[in-house]
Amino acid sequence: MAPDPVDSASGRPDVSRSLSERLGEIVGSSHVLTDADAMAGYLTDWTGRWTGSAVAVVRPLTADEVAAVVGLCADEGIAICPQGGNTGLVGGSIPPADASTPAIVLSTARMTDIDEIDTVGRSVGVQAGVTLAALDARASSAGLRFGVDLASRESATLGGMVATNAGGTRMIRHGNTRSQLLGIEAVRADGQILRRWRSLVKDNVGYDVPGLLAGSEGTLAVITRVLVRLVPTTGATVVFVAAIDDVSVALALIDAVSDAGLTTEAAEIMTQAGVDLVHDHGVRRPVSSPAQFYVLLEVSGPHDAEDVVLQVLDGQPGVVDAVVEPGPARDLWLVRESHTESIARSTTTPVVKLDVSVPLRALPAAFAELAAIADDDDCRPILFGHVGDGNIHVNLLDVAEESVESLTDRVFRVVSAHGGSISAEHGIGRAKVAWTGLGRSAVDLDTMKAIKTALDPAGLLNPGVLFE
Ligand SMILES: Cc1cc2nc3c(=O)[nH]c(=O)nc-3n(C[C@H](O)[C@H](O)[C@H](O)COP(=O)(O)OP(=O)(O)OC[C@H]3O[C@@H](n4cnc5c(N)ncnc54)[C@H](O)[C@@H]3O)c2cc1C
Repeated sequence: MAPDPVDSASGRPDVSRSLSERLGEIVGSSHVLTDADAMAGYLTDWTGRWTGSAVAVVRPLTADEVAAVVGLCADEGIAICPQGGNTGLVGGSIPPADASTPAIVLSTARMTDIDEIDTVGRSVGVQAGVTLAALDARASSAGLRFGVDLASRESATLGGMVATNAGGTRMIRHGNTRSQLLGIEAVRADGQILRRWRSLVKDNVGYDVPGLLAGSEGTLAVITRVLVRLVPTTGATVVFVAAIDDVSVALALIDAVSDAGLTTEAAEIMTQAGVDLVHDHGVRRPVSSPAQFYVLLEVSGPHDAEDVVLQVLDGQPGVVDAVVEPGPARDLWLVRESHTESIARSTTTPVVKLDVSVPLRALPAAFAELAAIADDDDCRPILFGHVGDGNIHVNLLDVAEESVESLTDRVFRVVSAHGGSISAEHGIGRAKVAWTGLGRSAVDLDTMKAIKTALDPAGLLNPGVLFE
Protein backbone atom coordinates (compact mmCIF):
# COMPACT_ATOMS: atom_id res chain seq x y z
CA MET A 1 0.00 0.00 0.00
CA ALA A 2 1.37 3.39 -0.87
CA PRO A 3 2.02 5.57 2.18
CA ASP A 4 -0.51 8.33 2.85
CA PRO A 5 0.53 11.68 1.41
CA VAL A 6 1.70 14.08 4.06
CA ASP A 7 -0.12 17.30 4.81
CA SER A 8 2.47 19.99 4.10
CA ALA A 9 1.32 22.26 6.91
CA SER A 10 1.24 19.74 9.77
CA GLY A 11 3.67 17.13 8.45
CA ARG A 12 1.11 14.43 9.44
CA PRO A 13 -0.61 11.96 7.05
CA ASP A 14 -3.47 13.58 5.17
CA VAL A 15 -6.49 11.64 6.48
CA SER A 16 -8.95 14.03 4.93
CA ARG A 17 -8.75 12.32 1.54
CA SER A 18 -11.89 10.41 0.88
CA LEU A 19 -12.09 6.89 2.25
CA SER A 20 -12.83 5.45 -1.18
CA GLU A 21 -9.68 7.01 -2.57
CA ARG A 22 -7.59 5.43 0.16
CA LEU A 23 -9.34 2.07 -0.25
CA GLY A 24 -8.66 2.37 -3.98
CA GLU A 25 -4.95 2.72 -3.29
CA ILE A 26 -5.08 -0.65 -1.54
CA VAL A 27 -7.23 -2.73 -3.89
CA GLY A 28 -7.29 -0.66 -7.09
CA SER A 29 -9.94 1.99 -7.66
CA SER A 30 -12.01 -0.25 -9.96
CA HIS A 31 -12.51 -2.61 -7.01
CA VAL A 32 -14.03 0.02 -4.74
CA LEU A 33 -17.69 0.44 -5.64
CA THR A 34 -19.52 3.50 -4.38
CA ASP A 35 -22.16 3.95 -7.05
CA ALA A 36 -25.62 2.94 -5.77
CA ASP A 37 -26.39 0.76 -8.81
CA ALA A 38 -23.05 -1.01 -8.67
CA MET A 39 -23.45 -1.67 -4.95
CA ALA A 40 -27.10 -2.77 -5.08
CA GLY A 41 -26.41 -6.48 -5.58
CA TYR A 42 -24.13 -6.51 -2.52
CA LEU A 43 -26.65 -4.74 -0.32
CA THR A 44 -29.65 -7.05 -0.58
CA ASP A 45 -29.49 -10.63 0.56
CA TRP A 46 -30.63 -13.79 -1.22
CA THR A 47 -34.03 -13.78 0.52
CA GLY A 48 -34.76 -10.15 -0.31
CA ARG A 49 -35.63 -9.61 3.34
CA TRP A 50 -32.45 -7.69 4.21
CA THR A 51 -31.31 -4.52 2.50
CA GLY A 52 -28.50 -2.44 3.96
CA SER A 53 -26.35 0.58 3.31
CA ALA A 54 -22.59 0.96 2.96
CA VAL A 55 -20.15 3.70 2.12
CA ALA A 56 -18.40 1.34 -0.31
CA VAL A 57 -18.10 -2.25 -1.48
CA VAL A 58 -14.43 -3.27 -1.47
CA ARG A 59 -13.13 -6.27 -3.40
CA PRO A 60 -9.58 -7.19 -2.33
CA LEU A 61 -7.50 -9.89 -4.00
CA THR A 62 -5.02 -10.99 -1.34
CA ALA A 63 -4.77 -11.39 2.42
CA ASP A 64 -2.35 -8.46 2.50
CA GLU A 65 -4.95 -6.27 0.81
CA VAL A 66 -7.61 -7.46 3.27
CA ALA A 67 -5.25 -6.66 6.15
CA ALA A 68 -4.65 -3.15 4.80
CA VAL A 69 -8.40 -2.55 4.30
CA VAL A 70 -9.22 -3.79 7.81
CA GLY A 71 -6.37 -1.71 9.26
CA LEU A 72 -7.65 1.41 7.54
CA CYS A 73 -11.19 0.74 8.76
CA ALA A 74 -9.87 0.23 12.30
CA ASP A 75 -8.10 3.59 12.16
CA GLU A 76 -11.16 5.36 10.76
CA GLY A 77 -13.85 3.59 12.86
CA ILE A 78 -15.53 2.05 9.83
CA ALA A 79 -17.49 -1.19 10.33
CA ILE A 80 -16.81 -4.17 8.06
CA CYS A 81 -19.38 -6.64 6.79
CA PRO A 82 -17.56 -9.58 5.17
CA GLN A 83 -19.44 -11.08 2.25
CA GLY A 84 -18.87 -14.24 0.23
CA GLY A 85 -21.55 -15.55 -2.12
CA ASN A 86 -24.32 -13.66 -0.30
CA THR A 87 -26.40 -16.86 -0.10
CA GLY A 88 -26.72 -16.73 3.69
CA LEU A 89 -30.32 -16.85 4.82
CA VAL A 90 -30.16 -14.82 8.04
CA GLY A 91 -29.07 -11.37 6.86
CA GLY A 92 -25.48 -11.64 8.16
CA SER A 93 -23.81 -10.72 4.87
CA ILE A 94 -25.60 -7.37 4.60
CA PRO A 95 -24.71 -4.31 6.71
CA PRO A 96 -27.61 -2.73 8.58
CA ALA A 97 -29.66 -0.06 6.81
CA ASP A 98 -29.75 2.33 9.73
CA ALA A 99 -26.36 1.90 11.38
CA SER A 100 -24.86 4.74 13.34
CA THR A 101 -21.38 3.53 12.31
CA PRO A 102 -20.57 3.78 8.57
CA ALA A 103 -19.79 0.39 7.06
CA ILE A 104 -18.14 -1.20 4.06
CA VAL A 105 -18.97 -4.54 2.51
CA LEU A 106 -15.76 -6.52 2.11
CA SER A 107 -16.47 -8.91 -0.74
CA THR A 108 -14.24 -11.95 -1.33
CA ALA A 109 -15.50 -12.34 -4.91
CA ARG A 110 -11.99 -11.93 -6.38
CA MET A 111 -10.26 -14.26 -3.89
CA THR A 112 -10.58 -17.44 -5.90
CA ASP A 113 -7.16 -19.16 -5.82
CA ILE A 114 -7.07 -22.91 -5.25
CA ASP A 115 -3.75 -24.49 -4.17
CA GLU A 116 -2.49 -27.80 -5.45
CA ILE A 117 -4.36 -30.71 -3.91
CA ASP A 118 -2.48 -32.85 -1.41
CA THR A 119 -3.67 -36.24 -2.62
CA VAL A 120 -1.81 -38.11 0.13
CA GLY A 121 -3.15 -36.10 3.05
CA ARG A 122 -6.39 -35.42 1.14
CA SER A 123 -6.48 -31.69 1.79
CA VAL A 124 -6.35 -28.42 -0.10
CA GLY A 125 -5.92 -24.75 0.68
CA VAL A 126 -8.30 -22.30 -0.99
CA GLN A 127 -8.91 -18.60 -0.83
CA ALA A 128 -12.07 -17.53 0.95
CA GLY A 129 -13.96 -16.57 -2.22
CA VAL A 130 -13.72 -19.98 -3.89
CA THR A 131 -17.19 -21.39 -4.43
CA LEU A 132 -18.12 -24.86 -3.30
CA ALA A 133 -18.79 -25.83 -6.93
CA ALA A 134 -15.31 -24.64 -8.02
CA LEU A 135 -13.66 -26.55 -5.17
CA ASP A 136 -15.57 -29.71 -6.01
CA ALA A 137 -14.75 -29.39 -9.70
CA ARG A 138 -11.03 -29.14 -8.88
CA ALA A 139 -11.13 -31.90 -6.24
CA SER A 140 -12.96 -34.29 -8.56
CA SER A 141 -9.93 -34.31 -10.86
CA ALA A 142 -8.16 -36.10 -7.99
CA GLY A 143 -11.11 -38.42 -7.24
CA LEU A 144 -11.99 -36.33 -4.20
CA ARG A 145 -14.59 -33.83 -3.12
CA PHE A 146 -15.47 -31.55 -0.23
CA GLY A 147 -17.42 -33.34 2.52
CA VAL A 148 -20.15 -30.66 2.77
CA ASP A 149 -22.71 -30.08 0.04
CA LEU A 150 -25.35 -27.36 -0.28
CA ALA A 151 -27.94 -26.54 -2.92
CA SER A 152 -26.33 -23.07 -3.05
CA ARG A 153 -23.03 -24.64 -4.20
CA GLU A 154 -22.63 -22.48 -7.32
CA SER A 155 -22.41 -19.27 -5.25
CA ALA A 156 -21.67 -20.19 -1.62
CA THR A 157 -17.98 -19.67 -0.84
CA LEU A 158 -15.63 -21.54 1.43
CA GLY A 159 -15.14 -18.38 3.53
CA GLY A 160 -18.90 -18.06 3.98
CA MET A 161 -19.32 -21.76 4.66
CA VAL A 162 -16.68 -21.68 7.37
CA ALA A 163 -18.07 -18.43 8.79
CA THR A 164 -21.54 -20.01 9.05
CA ASN A 165 -20.27 -23.53 9.83
CA ALA A 166 -22.57 -24.74 7.06
CA GLY A 167 -24.17 -28.16 7.42
CA GLY A 168 -26.02 -29.30 4.31
CA THR A 169 -27.13 -32.55 2.84
CA ARG A 170 -23.99 -34.66 3.51
CA MET A 171 -23.62 -33.69 7.16
CA ILE A 172 -24.98 -37.05 8.30
CA ARG A 173 -22.01 -38.67 6.52
CA HIS A 174 -19.06 -36.29 6.92
CA GLY A 175 -20.04 -33.73 9.57
CA ASN A 176 -20.35 -29.94 9.28
CA THR A 177 -17.87 -27.46 7.78
CA ARG A 178 -16.00 -27.08 11.07
CA SER A 179 -15.19 -30.80 10.93
CA GLN A 180 -13.52 -30.34 7.53
CA LEU A 181 -11.30 -27.47 8.69
CA LEU A 182 -7.59 -28.14 9.21
CA GLY A 183 -6.19 -24.62 9.07
CA ILE A 184 -7.15 -21.02 8.58
CA GLU A 185 -5.77 -17.66 7.56
CA ALA A 186 -7.77 -14.67 8.74
CA VAL A 187 -7.37 -10.96 9.30
CA ARG A 188 -8.06 -9.82 12.84
CA ALA A 189 -9.88 -6.60 13.65
CA ASP A 190 -6.54 -4.88 14.28
CA GLY A 191 -5.42 -5.68 10.73
CA GLN A 192 -2.97 -8.44 11.68
CA ILE A 193 -2.93 -11.67 9.68
CA LEU A 194 -3.52 -14.77 11.81
CA ARG A 195 -2.29 -18.01 10.20
CA ARG A 196 -2.78 -21.53 11.62
CA TRP A 197 -1.88 -23.67 8.65
CA ARG A 198 -0.89 -27.29 9.13
CA SER A 199 -2.49 -30.22 7.38
CA LEU A 200 -2.49 -32.24 10.57
CA VAL A 201 -5.55 -34.13 11.74
CA LYS A 202 -4.06 -34.14 15.24
CA ASP A 203 -2.81 -30.85 16.68
CA ASN A 204 -3.67 -30.13 20.28
CA VAL A 205 -1.44 -27.17 21.05
CA GLY A 206 -3.92 -24.95 22.83
CA TYR A 207 -7.19 -23.53 21.62
CA ASP A 208 -8.80 -24.64 18.37
CA VAL A 209 -8.63 -21.24 16.66
CA PRO A 210 -9.87 -22.42 13.24
CA GLY A 211 -12.77 -24.16 15.02
CA LEU A 212 -13.56 -20.92 16.88
CA LEU A 213 -13.73 -18.91 13.66
CA ALA A 214 -16.05 -21.54 12.18
CA GLY A 215 -19.55 -20.27 12.87
CA SER A 216 -18.34 -16.80 13.91
CA GLU A 217 -20.34 -15.13 11.10
CA GLY A 218 -17.76 -12.46 10.34
CA THR A 219 -17.78 -11.14 13.91
CA LEU A 220 -14.29 -12.25 15.00
CA ALA A 221 -12.07 -11.94 11.90
CA VAL A 222 -12.20 -11.82 8.11
CA ILE A 223 -11.32 -15.26 6.78
CA THR A 224 -8.98 -15.03 3.80
CA ARG A 225 -7.93 -18.64 3.18
CA VAL A 226 -8.89 -22.05 4.54
CA LEU A 227 -7.15 -25.42 4.59
CA VAL A 228 -9.77 -28.15 4.35
CA ARG A 229 -9.83 -31.90 4.23
CA LEU A 230 -11.29 -33.66 1.20
CA VAL A 231 -13.10 -37.00 1.06
CA PRO A 232 -13.11 -39.65 -1.65
CA THR A 233 -15.94 -39.32 -4.14
CA THR A 234 -18.64 -41.78 -3.22
CA GLY A 235 -18.81 -44.83 -5.47
CA ALA A 236 -22.15 -46.19 -6.62
CA THR A 237 -25.09 -45.03 -4.55
CA VAL A 238 -28.80 -45.75 -4.46
CA VAL A 239 -31.36 -43.00 -3.92
CA PHE A 240 -34.91 -43.60 -2.82
CA VAL A 241 -37.84 -41.43 -1.95
CA ALA A 242 -40.49 -43.01 0.26
CA ALA A 243 -43.91 -41.50 0.88
CA ILE A 244 -44.50 -42.05 4.59
CA ASP A 245 -47.28 -41.39 7.04
CA ASP A 246 -45.18 -40.18 9.97
CA VAL A 247 -41.79 -38.55 10.65
CA SER A 248 -40.86 -41.50 12.87
CA VAL A 249 -40.88 -43.74 9.76
CA ALA A 250 -38.05 -41.63 8.28
CA LEU A 251 -35.97 -42.21 11.42
CA ALA A 252 -36.81 -45.93 11.36
CA LEU A 253 -35.68 -46.15 7.72
CA ILE A 254 -32.32 -44.52 8.56
CA ASP A 255 -31.80 -47.15 11.28
CA ALA A 256 -33.01 -49.95 9.02
CA VAL A 257 -30.62 -49.20 6.14
CA SER A 258 -27.76 -48.98 8.61
CA ASP A 259 -28.76 -52.27 10.26
CA ALA A 260 -28.83 -53.79 6.76
CA GLY A 261 -25.17 -52.82 6.24
CA LEU A 262 -25.63 -49.71 4.07
CA THR A 263 -24.05 -46.29 4.70
CA THR A 264 -26.36 -43.28 4.76
CA GLU A 265 -24.93 -40.53 2.56
CA ALA A 266 -27.89 -38.16 2.98
CA ALA A 267 -31.31 -38.23 4.66
CA GLU A 268 -33.81 -35.50 3.85
CA ILE A 269 -37.44 -34.96 4.73
CA MET A 270 -40.17 -33.07 2.87
CA THR A 271 -43.90 -32.59 3.38
CA GLN A 272 -46.83 -32.91 1.02
CA ALA A 273 -47.12 -29.11 0.86
CA GLY A 274 -43.47 -28.80 -0.18
CA VAL A 275 -43.67 -31.50 -2.84
CA ASP A 276 -46.85 -29.89 -4.21
CA LEU A 277 -45.12 -26.50 -4.30
CA VAL A 278 -42.05 -27.67 -6.24
CA HIS A 279 -44.37 -29.59 -8.57
CA ASP A 280 -46.17 -26.31 -9.26
CA HIS A 281 -42.75 -24.99 -10.33
CA GLY A 282 -42.24 -27.77 -12.86
CA VAL A 283 -40.52 -30.47 -10.80
CA ARG A 284 -41.82 -34.02 -11.17
CA ARG A 285 -43.63 -35.75 -8.29
CA PRO A 286 -41.34 -38.46 -6.93
CA VAL A 287 -44.13 -41.02 -6.38
CA SER A 288 -47.76 -41.15 -7.42
CA SER A 289 -49.38 -41.83 -4.03
CA PRO A 290 -49.69 -38.76 -1.83
CA ALA A 291 -48.57 -38.90 1.78
CA GLN A 292 -48.07 -36.49 4.63
CA PHE A 293 -44.25 -36.78 4.44
CA TYR A 294 -41.57 -37.88 2.01
CA VAL A 295 -38.11 -39.07 3.00
CA LEU A 296 -35.21 -39.07 0.55
CA LEU A 297 -32.28 -41.33 1.42
CA GLU A 298 -29.06 -41.74 -0.52
CA VAL A 299 -27.12 -44.83 0.54
CA SER A 300 -23.92 -46.56 -0.47
CA GLY A 301 -22.85 -50.11 0.13
CA PRO A 302 -22.35 -53.47 -1.50
CA HIS A 303 -23.14 -54.31 -5.16
CA ASP A 304 -26.66 -55.41 -4.30
CA ALA A 305 -27.49 -52.19 -2.42
CA GLU A 306 -30.60 -51.67 -4.52
CA ASP A 307 -31.97 -55.11 -3.53
CA VAL A 308 -31.16 -54.40 0.10
CA VAL A 309 -33.06 -51.10 -0.13
CA LEU A 310 -36.08 -52.84 -1.66
CA GLN A 311 -36.09 -55.36 1.19
CA VAL A 312 -35.80 -52.59 3.78
CA LEU A 313 -38.71 -50.70 2.22
CA ASP A 314 -40.76 -53.86 2.03
CA GLY A 315 -40.29 -54.58 5.71
CA GLN A 316 -40.91 -51.05 6.98
CA PRO A 317 -44.41 -50.27 8.28
CA GLY A 318 -45.66 -46.77 7.41
CA VAL A 319 -44.22 -46.67 3.87
CA VAL A 320 -47.09 -45.72 1.55
CA ASP A 321 -45.17 -45.71 -1.75
CA ALA A 322 -41.54 -45.53 -2.86
CA VAL A 323 -39.26 -45.03 -5.84
CA VAL A 324 -35.71 -46.38 -5.97
CA GLU A 325 -33.09 -45.19 -8.48
CA PRO A 326 -29.34 -45.57 -8.89
CA GLY A 327 -27.43 -42.45 -7.79
CA PRO A 328 -26.94 -39.63 -8.37
CA ALA A 329 -30.67 -39.63 -9.28
CA ARG A 330 -30.64 -35.90 -9.96
CA ASP A 331 -34.37 -35.77 -10.69
CA LEU A 332 -35.19 -37.15 -7.26
CA TRP A 333 -32.74 -34.76 -5.63
CA LEU A 334 -34.28 -31.90 -7.58
CA VAL A 335 -37.51 -32.39 -5.62
CA ARG A 336 -35.66 -31.64 -2.40
CA GLU A 337 -33.20 -29.07 -3.71
CA SER A 338 -35.89 -26.99 -5.46
CA HIS A 339 -37.62 -26.24 -2.18
CA THR A 340 -35.70 -23.06 -1.23
CA GLU A 341 -35.99 -21.58 -4.72
CA SER A 342 -39.69 -22.46 -5.16
CA ILE A 343 -40.52 -21.07 -1.74
CA ALA A 344 -38.76 -17.79 -2.58
CA ARG A 345 -40.83 -17.52 -5.77
CA SER A 346 -44.17 -18.36 -4.15
CA THR A 347 -44.55 -16.11 -1.15
CA THR A 348 -46.28 -12.74 -1.22
CA THR A 349 -44.05 -11.45 1.62
CA PRO A 350 -40.36 -12.06 2.44
CA VAL A 351 -40.17 -15.65 3.70
CA VAL A 352 -39.70 -16.11 7.41
CA LYS A 353 -36.95 -18.74 7.33
CA LEU A 354 -36.18 -20.42 10.60
CA ASP A 355 -33.59 -23.16 10.58
CA VAL A 356 -33.85 -25.13 13.81
CA SER A 357 -32.85 -28.46 15.26
CA VAL A 358 -34.28 -30.73 17.93
CA PRO A 359 -33.12 -34.05 19.38
CA LEU A 360 -34.13 -36.91 17.07
CA ARG A 361 -36.55 -38.33 19.62
CA ALA A 362 -38.48 -35.02 19.61
CA LEU A 363 -38.62 -34.67 15.83
CA PRO A 364 -42.12 -36.07 15.18
CA ALA A 365 -43.69 -33.94 17.92
CA ALA A 366 -41.76 -30.82 16.86
CA PHE A 367 -42.91 -31.20 13.23
CA ALA A 368 -46.54 -31.39 14.36
CA GLU A 369 -46.29 -28.46 16.76
CA LEU A 370 -44.47 -26.23 14.27
CA ALA A 371 -47.01 -26.88 11.52
CA ALA A 372 -49.82 -26.11 13.98
CA ILE A 373 -48.33 -22.69 14.84
CA ALA A 374 -48.47 -21.64 11.22
CA ASP A 375 -52.01 -22.95 10.80
CA ASP A 376 -53.11 -20.81 13.77
CA ASP A 377 -51.64 -17.73 12.19
CA ASP A 378 -53.04 -18.22 8.76
CA CYS A 379 -49.71 -18.28 6.96
CA ARG A 380 -48.42 -21.07 4.72
CA PRO A 381 -45.82 -23.32 6.36
CA ILE A 382 -43.37 -25.36 4.31
CA LEU A 383 -41.24 -27.58 6.51
CA PHE A 384 -38.37 -29.67 5.22
CA GLY A 385 -34.90 -30.51 6.36
CA HIS A 386 -31.99 -32.78 7.07
CA VAL A 387 -33.94 -35.39 9.02
CA GLY A 388 -30.94 -37.44 10.14
CA ASP A 389 -29.52 -34.39 11.92
CA GLY A 390 -32.82 -33.41 13.58
CA ASN A 391 -32.71 -30.25 11.43
CA ILE A 392 -35.97 -28.66 10.31
CA HIS A 393 -36.12 -25.70 7.92
CA VAL A 394 -39.28 -23.87 8.92
CA ASN A 395 -40.40 -21.61 6.07
CA LEU A 396 -43.41 -19.42 6.70
CA LEU A 397 -44.91 -17.83 3.59
CA ASP A 398 -47.31 -14.90 3.34
CA VAL A 399 -46.56 -13.65 6.86
CA ALA A 400 -47.80 -10.15 7.59
CA GLU A 401 -44.91 -7.91 8.72
CA GLU A 402 -46.51 -7.30 12.11
CA SER A 403 -46.63 -11.06 12.80
CA VAL A 404 -43.00 -11.89 11.95
CA GLU A 405 -41.63 -11.39 15.42
CA SER A 406 -44.39 -13.16 17.33
CA LEU A 407 -44.39 -16.13 14.93
CA THR A 408 -40.62 -16.41 15.14
CA ASP A 409 -40.84 -16.31 18.89
CA ARG A 410 -43.47 -19.06 18.97
CA VAL A 411 -41.37 -21.30 16.73
CA PHE A 412 -38.30 -20.79 18.88
CA ARG A 413 -40.24 -21.49 22.09
CA VAL A 414 -41.39 -24.85 20.67
CA VAL A 415 -37.82 -25.68 19.70
CA SER A 416 -36.45 -24.59 23.03
CA ALA A 417 -39.05 -26.61 24.94
CA HIS A 418 -37.78 -29.71 23.14
CA GLY A 419 -34.16 -28.91 24.07
CA GLY A 420 -33.38 -27.83 20.50
CA SER A 421 -31.36 -25.05 18.87
CA ILE A 422 -32.68 -21.91 17.18
CA SER A 423 -29.92 -22.18 14.58
CA ALA A 424 -29.02 -25.59 13.22
CA GLU A 425 -26.80 -24.49 10.35
CA HIS A 426 -27.59 -21.02 8.96
CA GLY A 427 -26.33 -19.00 11.93
CA ILE A 428 -27.94 -16.15 13.85
CA GLY A 429 -27.15 -13.27 11.49
CA ARG A 430 -29.43 -10.31 12.00
CA ALA A 431 -32.62 -12.35 11.72
CA LYS A 432 -32.36 -14.15 15.05
CA VAL A 433 -30.27 -11.76 17.06
CA ALA A 434 -33.05 -11.04 19.55
CA TRP A 435 -33.07 -14.73 20.50
CA THR A 436 -29.32 -15.52 20.73
CA GLY A 437 -29.69 -15.99 24.47
CA LEU A 438 -32.53 -18.50 24.20
CA GLY A 439 -31.15 -21.88 25.20
CA ARG A 440 -27.75 -20.45 26.26
CA SER A 441 -26.98 -19.80 29.93
CA ALA A 442 -25.87 -16.34 31.09
CA VAL A 443 -22.33 -17.63 31.70
CA ASP A 444 -22.22 -19.21 28.24
CA LEU A 445 -23.34 -15.92 26.64
CA ASP A 446 -20.83 -14.00 28.73
CA THR A 447 -18.06 -16.27 27.51
CA MET A 448 -19.03 -15.67 23.89
CA LYS A 449 -19.14 -11.91 24.46
CA ALA A 450 -15.73 -12.00 26.16
CA ILE A 451 -14.26 -13.68 23.08
CA LYS A 452 -15.89 -11.08 20.83
CA THR A 453 -14.56 -8.21 22.95
CA ALA A 454 -11.06 -9.68 23.11
CA LEU A 455 -10.80 -10.06 19.34
CA ASP A 456 -12.81 -7.03 18.25
CA PRO A 457 -12.74 -4.48 21.10
CA ALA A 458 -14.13 -1.64 18.96
CA GLY A 459 -16.97 -3.84 17.67
CA LEU A 460 -16.27 -3.07 13.99
CA LEU A 461 -16.59 -6.62 12.62
CA ASN A 462 -20.16 -7.23 11.49
CA PRO A 463 -21.85 -5.24 14.26
CA GLY A 464 -25.44 -6.29 14.91
CA VAL A 465 -24.78 -9.87 13.86
CA LEU A 466 -24.93 -12.58 16.55
CA PHE A 467 -25.24 -10.01 19.36
CA GLU A 468 -27.59 -7.04 19.50
C1 LIG B 1 -30.75 -22.53 -2.18
C2 LIG B 1 -29.98 -22.47 -0.87
C3 LIG B 1 -29.72 -23.64 -0.18
C4 LIG B 1 -28.99 -23.60 1.00
N1 LIG B 1 -28.74 -24.77 1.67
C5 LIG B 1 -28.04 -24.75 2.81
C6 LIG B 1 -27.79 -25.96 3.53
O1 LIG B 1 -28.23 -27.04 3.15
N2 LIG B 1 -27.05 -25.87 4.65
C7 LIG B 1 -26.53 -24.69 5.11
O2 LIG B 1 -25.84 -24.68 6.13
N3 LIG B 1 -26.78 -23.54 4.47
C8 LIG B 1 -27.51 -23.53 3.33
N4 LIG B 1 -27.77 -22.36 2.68
C9 LIG B 1 -27.29 -21.08 3.25
C10 LIG B 1 -25.94 -20.58 2.69
O3 LIG B 1 -25.69 -21.06 1.39
C11 LIG B 1 -24.80 -20.95 3.64
O4 LIG B 1 -24.98 -20.29 4.87
C12 LIG B 1 -23.41 -20.60 3.09
O5 LIG B 1 -22.45 -21.14 3.97
C13 LIG B 1 -23.17 -19.11 2.92
O6 LIG B 1 -22.01 -18.92 2.15
P1 LIG B 1 -21.78 -17.53 1.40
O7 LIG B 1 -20.43 -17.55 0.78
O8 LIG B 1 -22.91 -17.26 0.49
O9 LIG B 1 -21.76 -16.53 2.62
P2 LIG B 1 -22.49 -15.10 2.77
O10 LIG B 1 -23.95 -15.26 2.60
O11 LIG B 1 -21.81 -14.11 1.92
O12 LIG B 1 -22.17 -14.78 4.28
C14 LIG B 1 -22.71 -15.56 5.32
C15 LIG B 1 -22.08 -15.11 6.65
O13 LIG B 1 -20.68 -15.41 6.64
C16 LIG B 1 -19.91 -14.21 6.79
N5 LIG B 1 -18.76 -14.32 5.87
C17 LIG B 1 -18.79 -14.58 4.54
N6 LIG B 1 -17.54 -14.65 4.07
C18 LIG B 1 -16.71 -14.41 5.12
C19 LIG B 1 -15.29 -14.33 5.28
N7 LIG B 1 -14.47 -14.52 4.26
N8 LIG B 1 -14.80 -14.08 6.50
C20 LIG B 1 -15.61 -13.89 7.56
N9 LIG B 1 -16.96 -13.95 7.47
C21 LIG B 1 -17.49 -14.21 6.27
C22 LIG B 1 -20.85 -13.07 6.42
O14 LIG B 1 -20.47 -11.87 7.07
C23 LIG B 1 -22.18 -13.62 6.91
O15 LIG B 1 -22.31 -13.41 8.29
C24 LIG B 1 -28.52 -22.36 1.50
C25 LIG B 1 -28.80 -21.18 0.81
C26 LIG B 1 -29.52 -21.23 -0.37
C27 LIG B 1 -29.78 -19.94 -1.09
